[in-house]
Formats: sequence, structure tokens, C-alpha cells
Amino acid sequence: MQRYFIPAEQFFEDYVLIAGDDAHHLARVMRAEEGDRVIVSDGLAREALVEIREIAKDRVRAEIVERLPMDREPNVEVWIAQSLPKGDKMETVIQKATEIGAARFVPFVSERTVVQLDAKKEGKRVERWQKIAKEAAEQAHRNRVPAVDSPCDWKALLALAQEMDAAWICYEKESGSQLKPALRKLLSGESGEGARKKIMLIVGPEGGFSETEVAKAEAAGCLPVSLGKRILRTETAAMVGLTCILYETGEMGGD
Ligand code: SAH
Repeated sequence: MQRYFIPAEQFFEDYVLIAGDDAHHLARVMRAEEGDRVIVSDGLAREALVEIREIAKDRVRAEIVERLPMDREPNVEVWIAQSLPKGDKMETVIQKATEIGAARFVPFVSERTVVQLDAKKEGKRVERWQKIAKEAAEQAHRNRVPAVDSPCDWKALLALAQEMDAAWICYEKESGSQLKPALRKLLSGESGEGARKKIMLIVGPEGGFSETEVAKAEAAGCLPVSLGKRILRTETAAMVGLTCILYETGEMGGD
């Protein structure tokens, strides 16, 4: 069944309004008719099965048939901090990590990032990345759309990392720390079971991180972690780290 994320202000007591591109998609692409049912979510706290009542060119009004539980989001909030990769790899990172369950994306520039920040193009790129996150979240039937930040520099990233419950810098030269013990230590932490932990996974560009960068990250409280003995491509590493974390926290099915 088709699913749309709509702004909270379009979610009323007993009906919703679907507007803009989504209304156009419903009316023109899906050729929806009155009586058809779709699922809408405000991406925060409300999700519902709705039945179409009125269809206009750029606006659809649908009656709420049933409120749906918001139970598809992981019990741990994983932020993917990704050093800007070349080409359109960032789109792959965002799409795949959204399907898996990432909560937020923080693109950044580090020493060996090849792609340079271009203030003019940046706005358009972030807009496109956010659209990819929304579409991937709809396809994955998620209750929320991960937010995509504007790219930041290394200093800003390390400052943000310090606000996390844990920040792990993925480092292929790291033989010591594995994800599993780091995660177990975090989850058994005294800060109470209920608290939804916020974890940041930091992934380098195609050229990786310099030793100085890793030392600086450690000084800022980040833990270098290995994702195994194989060297992963930059666009693969976040998916692997994210999946390991969600598997370990029981979010990947099975018991
Ligand atoms: N320097 C690497 C390439 C970097 S891979 C090389 O020798 O080719 C790009 C990024 O993916 C790295 O910066 C790191 O963050 C992550 N990564 C890749 N393989 C990893 C591994 N086995 N363990 C931890 N991180 C890894």
C-alpha cells in the first residue's frame, strides 16, 4: 500500500491533507480515486490508514480510518557521519542506511575528502539527499524520515560527536576495539534501560583517515573500532557498522 510522509500541520483530528508532489503522485501517477486507501505518517508521532475523499490537482483530502502503531523505528538512534565520498556514492549511503534504520546523516569534510564543499551547489545536494531519505523511508515502511544535515567540517563533527552517548570512528587499521564489546558496554550502562541511546558511526572517505585525525577523534572521546579484517569501500562501511549495531540490539529480526 502506498505510503506518504506529510507535515504534522496537515494531520488533523479525523482527516489529513496530502499536498504538493505527493498529491500529484497520488492523482496522476497512481491514478487514485475516492475510496482508495493509503498510509500517511507525520514522521514524528502519528501514522494512519486513510481513505481518499477528495482529489484535486495538487491537494488530496483523506479521512482517517485507523491510527497505526509507530513501532518500526529501532530502539537505538544511530547517526551516520560520512566523509563526503566521490560521485553519487552519498546517495547510496543514504538510501541503504535509511532502509536499514539510520536515524540521521551528518556529511562532513576531512583531510582526505576529495569532494570540495561548494556553497552554491550544496543546498541542492542536501535537498536531493533529503528526498532520497524520504523515499527510502517510505519504501521501508519506516515511521520516521532520517534528517540529512548540511556538510560540516572536522571540528564541528567532533563537537557533535561529544553530544552522543557513544561516537565510534571506523578505522580499518584498528585491530583492538571491536563493535560488539563497545556496544555491550554502552547498553549495560548505568544510564538506565529506558534511555534510547544515541550512537554516531564516523566513516572516512575513499582515502581513509590520517593517524592524526584518528588521534584527534580519540582525544575528543571517540573510540576507534574495526569492522573486521577486510577493507570496506567508504560506501559499504556505514551499512556494515549500522547493521552490526542493529543486529546486536535485536533490531534485525529473530530473537
Ligand atoms: N584506507 C583504506 C580505504 C579507506 S575505506 C584503504 O587502505 O584502502 C573508507 C572508510 O571506510 C575508512 O576511512 C573507514 O572509516 C571505513 N572502513 C573500511 N574498512 C574498514 C574496516 N575493516 N574497519 C573499520 N573501518 C573500515
